[in-house]
Amino acid sequence: MKSYRKELWFNVPARRAFINITPQVRECLGESGIREGLALVNAMHITASVFINDDETGLHNDYEAWLEKLAPHEPVSRYRHNRTGEDNGDAHLKRQVMGREVVVAVTKGELDFGTWERIFYGEFDGMRKKRVLVKIIGE
Ligand code: ZN
Repeated sequence: MKSYRKELWFNVPARRAFINITPQVRECLGESGIREGLALVNAMHITASVFINDDETGLHNDYEAWLEKLAPHEPVSRYRHNRTGEDNGDAHLKRQVMGREVVVAVTKGELDFGTWERIFYGEFDGMRKKRVLVKIIGE
């Protein structure tokens, strides 16, 4: 069995963003040389997500509005977590809703997606360097 590991780095210039990272994950799969197996992609931070959905701007705007309704950033005083001196209480909650990781089957050297599936990095507390782990196992 082969095993491949890589960290992808992001420095999003805004507090929140959704980034299609499918091309980077495909590149990792190519580098790995693995044809049959599993690819795990996870955010290495507790205020960022990795999830699979449609690459459609309207949907991303809907996520933003929905998450802001569920856990508004302001007023930061509404979160007990922010009593530690942080201002990212909302980002921890948004991350929980959007998830930590995805696992994608690797078949014949390709990410074995449904038609509209793409992998996204969801940033909820940006403007600093953060990592995503890609781990691929198989043969
Ligand atoms: Zn925090």
